[in-house]
Amino acid sequence: MSPEAVKEELRRHHDLGHRVIPMGNCDNFDYQKGCQGHSDDTEIKNLGIPEAKPEKPFSQFNSADWDNYIEAATKTAIRGAEQALGHEVDTVIKTFMGMCIRASILSIRDQIVREMAKNN
Ligand SMILES: [Zn+2]
Repeated sequence: MSPEAVKEELRRHHDLGHRVIPMGNCDNFDYQKGCQGHSDDTEIKNLGIPEAKPEKPFSQFNSADWDNYIEAATKTAIRGAEQALGHEVDTVIKTFMGMCIRASILSIRDQIVREMAKNN
């Protein structure tokens, strides 16, 4: 799904007055308050959310390392959301999460590059 298709879907929800949108095929959803929980929530929440950790210091990352890190971080975030929610995350949300994570990691990366330049 393209970024433009995701934005279009988000605009559609906005125009319908939805404050929040379901992350997946949620059968207990309120468009103002969100997921209202599921019967197996306790068990699911106990699983916890694993963190994506880099394999080497950011200062040693090349462009392929950044791509791999962003991909791993996105997968981890989606897996964590699915564990917390108790249902699979929708493609629109997956793409949206990927876009947000990519934007935030690339901005972190820019900050690291700036810090490294300052110290040299
Ligand atoms: Zn739900």
